[in-house]
Amino acid sequence: MKNISFIGLGNMGKPMALNFINKKYNLFLFDINKSNYKPFKKTNAIITNNNKELTHNSNLIISMLPNGKELLSLVLGKKGIIHYIKKNSVFIDCSSIDYKTTLQVSRALKKKGVNFLDAPVSGGVAGAQAASLTMMVGGNKSTFNKVTKILNTIAKNIIYVGKSGSGQIVKACNNMMLGVNMIAISEAFTLSKAFGIDAKVFFEICSKSTGSSWAMLNHLPVKNIVKTSAANNNYKPGYAAKLILKDLKIANEMASSASINNIMGKKAYDIYNKFCSKDKNNLDYSAIIKILSKKL
Ligand code: NAD
Repeated sequence: MKNISFIGLGNMGKPMALNFINKKYNLFLFDINKSNYKPFKKTNAIITNNNKELTHNSNLIISMLPNGKELLSLVLGKKGIIHYIKKNSVFIDCSSIDYKTTLQVSRALKKKGVNFLDAPVSGGVAGAQAASLTMMVGGNKSTFNKVTKILNTIAKNIIYVGKSGSGQIVKACNNMMLGVNMIAISEAFTLSKAFGIDAKVFFEICSKSTGSSWAMLNHLPVKNIVKTSAANNNYKPGYAAKLILKDLKIANEMASSASINNIMGKKAYDIYNKFCSKDKNNLDYSAIIKILSKKL
């Protein structure tokens, strides 16, 4: 499997695809936004024009799309991949989407003799660039074993979760923690600042204290302290606020279907929803500090 078709070359997909290219895989690329092909101009990756071309040269397809709706249209749409994909191909979806869509796509592809894995990732853009992502995988175990070595090109920790959709369930729960955490970090930095504490001193202490977290160490919403913060770059994503809103929605739908009272998950959704409705969808999710630091 040296040939890989890679779909979705956005903030995450671009560095992931480049890592495959650097390890001498032959890539066939597709993105609805043609300007995303720019970083691949000097590589030997091949730009494809449609799903027929995309599936013709490779039997391993990887997608990194914004949401489940796009995956549905890509795979099951009128001229979708399902109509062209070769039997015994493997389709790995690394996007973060709702597990019900995963099951729908996985079942449809199974009927065509195609194995589907849900393999969402964690680690952000910096993790994608450094090929140090954590990947949580659902689907057939023997398919997982077959592709683990290939996935090692983009991810450091690759963990098999269980049946189809289970990778997405873990991812939604993880991102719910992340969203709630980013709000808590923003509130703590705002509060300490209101009482005259310097943000650098506050970071130095809390990064070595019980309040520390991955989000604080990597995505601090305050600028000029952490190298990988979107705050250093006017909150250019990174991880767009509209994407965490999608993830919080997925987690809350899961909670309501399991009759679980997701108090903080619901609150975080409301806060991000308010933020996104003010035209801030395309800012990094850490920009949430902008509304949390406003005085009453
Ligand atoms: P993005 O919006 O930057 O990239 C998505 C890409 O998919 C875009 O280039 C878009 O043009 C393309 N696309 C959309 N629909 C398409 C279609 N039908 N066919 C082909 N291409 C299509 O998003 P991202 O930040 O790269 O995130 C991608 C996924 O990974 C999301 O589900 C997100 O939640 C998840 N994720 C993001 C991060 C992060 O830090 N950005 C981290 C982990 C997981």
